Amino acid sequence: MQNISKEDYLSAIYKYRETDGTIKANRIADKLSISNAAVTDMLKKLANDGFVDYKRYKGIRLTKNGEEYAKNMVRRHRIWEVFLHQIVGMPWDKVHEEAHNLEHGASDELINKMEEMLDFPEFDPHGDPIPDKNGLLPKQRHTIPLSLAAKGEAVEVVRVNDFDNSFLKYLSGIGIKLNKKLTIKNVLGFDKSMIISIDNKEVNISSTIAANVFVHRKN
Ligand SMILES: [Zn+2]
Repeated sequence: MQNISKEDYLSAIYKYRETDGTIKANRIADKLSISNAAVTDMLKKLANDGFVDYKRYKGIRLTKNGEEYAKNMVRRHRIWEVFLHQIVGMPWDKVHEEAHNLEHGASDELINKMEEMLDFPEFDPHGDPIPDKNGLLPKQRHTIPLSLAAKGEAVEVVRVNDFDNSFLKYLSGIGIKLNKKLTIKNVLGFDKSMIISIDNKEVNISSTIAANVFVHRKN
């Protein structure tokens, strides 16, 4: 079994919490593919160290310290992803694992230098926002899941969920990438799958795929 660090927990809480800032322990277990008992143990430790507010059966919340810590980890991770994607030329379905191995070791100085060299990217290769040195996030973009777009709409891809590499690979295979413009040709009533047009070619995608691609409305 892989070793899951304190940093991984904090990043997962930061990334997957609800809009009210809380997350349930079982959801963390689910996201990190570990047992509820392991999560409970770690949450106690993190609460002792002042990183989370944890009360059994209640939503978990990052403290101010925890928030800062998690943001910094996410920042490191996403800057590595940009580096691996743009400079090393790795596809977006490969950068997550590599970045994960690299994010712990690098000094803040190296991360800051890389950020500068990359010309202060605001988003990672999956469209996730990168906190700057002071923890500030780029302006939020208004997006909807592609699954909510209607027939006839023109949209632009802004972000994709990055939890599954085969999903990302599939997307590249059909021509979906960031900033790509799509037109919804049809939404099929019986299973909500969609026929979309990418580069003048029509592709049929399932509602699950459409729910994990986030777009900006163009018209
Ligand atoms: Zn990413």
